[in-house]
Amino acid sequence: MATGNINVSVENIFPLIKKFLYSDHEIFLRELISNATDATLKLKHLTSIGEAKVEYGNPFIEVKVDKEAKTISITDQGLGMTAEEVEKYINQVAFSGAEEFLDKYKDSAQDSGIIGHFGLGFYSAFMVADKVEIITKSYKDAPAAHWTCDGSPTFTLEEADKKDRGTEIILHVSEDEVEFLEDAKIGGLLTKYNKFMPVPIKFGTKTETLPKPEDAKEDDPAPTEEVDNIINNPNPAWTKKPADLEDTDYKSFYRELYPMQFEEPLFHIHLNVDHPFNLTGILYFPKLSGDMSMQKDRIQLYQNQVFVTDNVEGIVPEFLTMLRGVIDSPDIPLNVSRSYLQADGAVKKISGYITRKVADKLNSLFKNNREDFEAKWNDIKVVIEYGMLSEDKFYDKADKFALYPTVDNNYFTFEELKEQIKDAQTDKDGKLVVLYASDKDAQHSYIQAAKDKGYTVVLLDSPIVSHLIQKLETSHENTTFVRVDGDHVDNLIKKDDNVISKLSDEEKEELKTTIEKVVPKETFTVQVEAMDSQSAPFLITQSEFMRRMKEMQATGGGGMNMFGNMPETYNLVVNGNSEFITKINEAENDEAKEGLIKQALDLAKLSQNLLTGEDLTNFIKRSFNLI
Ligand code: ADP
Ligand code: MG
Repeated sequence: MATGNINVSVENIFPLIKKFLYSDHEIFLRELISNATDATLKLKHLTSIGEAKVEYGNPFIEVKVDKEAKTISITDQGLGMTAEEVEKYINQVAFSGAEEFLDKYKDSAQDSGIIGHFGLGFYSAFMVADKVEIITKSYKDAPAAHWTCDGSPTFTLEEADKKDRGTEIILHVSEDEVEFLEDAKIGGLLTKYNKFMPVPIKFGTKTETLPKPEDAKEDDPAPTEEVDNIINNPNPAWTKKPADLEDTDYKSFYRELYPMQFEEPLFHIHLNVDHPFNLTGILYFPKLSGDMSMQKDRIQLYQNQVFVTDNVEGIVPEFLTMLRGVIDSPDIPLNVSRSYLQADGAVKKISGYITRKVADKLNSLFKNNREDFEAKWNDIKVVIEYGMLSEDKFYDKADKFALYPTVDNNYFTFEELKEQIKDAQTDKDGKLVVLYASDKDAQHSYIQAAKDKGYTVVLLDSPIVSHLIQKLETSHENTTFVRVDGDHVDNLIKKDDNVISKLSDEEKEELKTTIEKVVPKETFTVQVEAMDSQSAPFLITQSEFMRRMKEMQATGGGGMNMFGNMPETYNLVVNGNSEFITKINEAENDEAKEGLIKQALDLAKLSQNLLTGEDLTNFIKRSFNLI
């Protein structure tokens, strides 16, 4: 058996880096600023532990674009490199000085915020430049060094006369990447990736308006001044302790994150763990508009304050991707593919942790200020209901605070609701019947009828409600949900004082046949019932089961395909005790009978929003003739 080392030469690797390492050319700037930041943070650490005996001062990073010379430069005031260090850290591809530093200062540098990892970031410069220069002066007493490389594996390294400590990286931008020489382009990238990095970043200058002097006349213009344009906030809210932040701080940070967002968030959740993984962040519950696909402002993922992505799929449970805010974790492997990410153990734990934190926060809002929680319910319910459906662990917690508002705006938890209806709403098998409406206007007459009978009707109007109901019925034994216009309520709910029928069984059959001659058989199943004489003569209902299956299918998953292809069918419930039935029976002739039945059917259809097109036109014509 033979063993040995595979010889990976730089010649082979260079074109690979250029082409494949990063799909996005633009991240070169993020990488170089990360290195400049690391160099600054390392110096900070070394001065703090007394290993570097120099003044740390107030270092910043400066980015400059020279359109004429076709260069971009990134200059820092960090620890710099000696010529030997350039040899070691730069000429050795895939050797990470950042990792080495963290290893060496294991105990003290844990929280130093060092970003680097793989020792490949620097070479991303060659994605946009065909020549790169490094001019660097170490904090140690050594001459400055000047390194140049044109993208081939050969480089030059010579002494330079740079006096001040730190490193300047100069990129000679290649012909086909000139877009990066536009100020607007670089400015945009800086805001995207570096807005919250921990060392101040200067890019050009900006004009600032000064206060007017005391003796200025009223229409004198206010004086202005050119000042350094610092593009970042080095101390974003999520890096601070919750105890040091006020509600207004959270709100203004929200504005900082989403400058185009004018609506205030409903509430926030400050995340902070350091075991078994590191994660900080702030999540916000926004007021959600109905259209989820419009969601542009998403949760942003950071690694040590460097923006990574706003595609958090796989890291944040899906139902929480509707939230906004930031998550920052040094533990999320950043430069790897998404499928790997989803299988990663740390990432799974993160997702579970976030779910738990969100559930706990909601629970404490519910417990500590129920009134406020109820007021916000309509804006947050989609997230909660979706979470209950998709994450069992979340369901278990949320079942205690999820609310079921009645059509009259009383908010019950499910347990409270059960208590509320337990005496009046049980079916023949003793199951609790939860009556619900999905549309207050469209089902108005049904809601009214149920309320008149003293029933409690809850309003469940989110799009995924049919799925949720299915889940609730399974987890709460002995409950069944019925929509107010579903299988007829009077048949369903057991009552002691059942109405006595005015019609004999024979008369019922006769009436049924008469009506069946007039109404379309394929759509309506006629059913003659004895109801309160004041109830409507004709009532259209739809089987709860059938409707729910269709709905579930329309909103994805659940129902079986066969239901989607079934035609819409309804029950036509005829109140045998109604005065109107006497009228039908006493009509002069068949034609008059038919006219009455058609009119009553159309009225019933009208109250279910089922009357459209030609039927509606004919109905109106007929009605005018009647008056
Ligand atoms: P990583 O950041 O993952 O360590 P890079 O390829 O980005 O890898 O950089 C390699 C090494 O080069 C760094 O670890 C650091 O030691 C050195 N280096 C790069 N840029 C600078 C800089 N601006 N100042 C000082 N050292 C730097
Ligand atoms: Mg790096």
